[in-house]
Amino acid sequence: MNLKTDLYINGEWVKGNGTLPVYDPSTGKVIADVQTAGDEECMAAVDAAFAAQKSFAKSAPRVRAEILRRAFDIMIAEADEIAKLISMENGKVFSDAKGEVMYAAEFFRWFSEEAVRTPGDFRKSPSGDKRILVTHQPIGVSLLITPWNFPAAMATRKIGPAVAAGCTMILKPAGETPLTALYIVDIMERAGLPKGVLNFVLPSKTGPMLSKVLHDPRVRNLSFTGSTEVGRVLLKECSDLVIRTSLELGGNAPFLVLDDADIDAAVAGAMVAKMRNGGSACTAANRFYVARSVADEFTTKFSAAMQGLKMAPGLDDGAQLGSSVSVKERNKIAALVDASVSSGASVITGGKTPEGDGAFYPATVLKVEKSNSILKQEIFGPVAPVVIFDTDEEAIELANDVEYGLISYVYTSDLARGIRTAEALEAGMIALNRGVVSDPAAPFGGVKQSGLGREGGFAGIHEFLETKYIGVEI
Ligand code: NAD
Repeated sequence: MNLKTDLYINGEWVKGNGTLPVYDPSTGKVIADVQTAGDEECMAAVDAAFAAQKSFAKSAPRVRAEILRRAFDIMIAEADEIAKLISMENGKVFSDAKGEVMYAAEFFRWFSEEAVRTPGDFRKSPSGDKRILVTHQPIGVSLLITPWNFPAAMATRKIGPAVAAGCTMILKPAGETPLTALYIVDIMERAGLPKGVLNFVLPSKTGPMLSKVLHDPRVRNLSFTGSTEVGRVLLKECSDLVIRTSLELGGNAPFLVLDDADIDAAVAGAMVAKMRNGGSACTAANRFYVARSVADEFTTKFSAAMQGLKMAPGLDDGAQLGSSVSVKERNKIAALVDASVSSGASVITGGKTPEGDGAFYPATVLKVEKSNSILKQEIFGPVAPVVIFDTDEEAIELANDVEYGLISYVYTSDLARGIRTAEALEAGMIALNRGVVSDPAAPFGGVKQSGLGREGGFAGIHEFLETKYIGVEI
């Protein structure tokens, strides 16, 4: 396997100030030691990105588009190898990992198409005294910080628009999953990205070292995907130099099954919405609100489907639920379930941590009251609390009663009722009669404390562009 473990700065693979072990969470064994960056390497990455910024901004959009298109082709050709690597360092099953690679590659294809279509504007001013010329320019050096749950897609969702826009980058992946990010950096090098445009660091002291990067006036943009907690810290860090921020943060998605829903379709959708990535997705359905008249049927069928999943190491044949990314993350999930049971939840299936070294937790369905503490938390694992509701208004009120607003799911047979409900739900994205909506061609992002800005779609490239207005005397 093409395993890169060095830092990548100014087009060179270099050693840093130490190493960080990367584990296979399904066995607990070390699979690689990756170089870590000290202050010196972090600042060298800023130097390289800044030095490359001017010429990259001037490069032809078509040239940047073709680099992205080549990166797409390489990623598709090597999809199985990348999926295996994701599964090894993240714990997710191979089919989920392969799905992620295809999704991740699509960001390169989409933004290769967007690179040559940036719109501008030229108009006569209403008073007729001048012409209004509006154009877009790359923001400049961008720090990209990604989480462990989608190590490929969260990187390409940022690298794609940054390259399309003409921004240079410093990529910092999660410490749990740096190998996939390194593989993507290697793809970008092979696709012909000029030196200095994309730099890779894994700081040995994340907070203080990245704080220094965000206090260097040459850095103009932060694109962060991760928890709301860390997002808040970074938003404060960015306030000192008024750095542009794009934040894709945590979720706590409600999944509403209205009384006229097709229950088999709702169960199939619930399985995708809850169990894609073993439940560790920001879009994962986190709370199931089911109308009283269909609650028994939904819960029985959903629990049977959850119970039927084969839990095994991600690369085992037929594995449907892999391990969590670490024992620490798995223990967090177990603690949420235990607290929920202590406050009155009943376990319908799952709910017990298995013996052994791997970070496994079984598919779990809980029946809970509306006030149960688990409904306020992002579970980030294969656990589904089910709550009964009586009216649509009540379901909407419960759904909106959290600090998050990333995505909400609705199942109903009445499209008008579905759209009314979708409009009333406080979320950046709504899945109507679907278990998944993520699409590189659509704007992804949240409201409330789930984030600022949008990735993908026509909006995605604008997270890396400034708008410039030129008033022209004529
Ligand atoms: P996290 O916030 O702990 O870490 C995310 C990244 O930030 C990692 O690379 C981490 O090393 C880095 N980081 C941590 N502290 C930092 C600091 N002080 N300064 C700079 N960087 C710092 O999140 P995680 O556990 O890796 O990922 C899970 C979270 O990500 C969940 O809350 C999930 O909902 C969220 N997420 C959101 C989206 C989205 O698009 N909205 C997508 C995927 C994951």
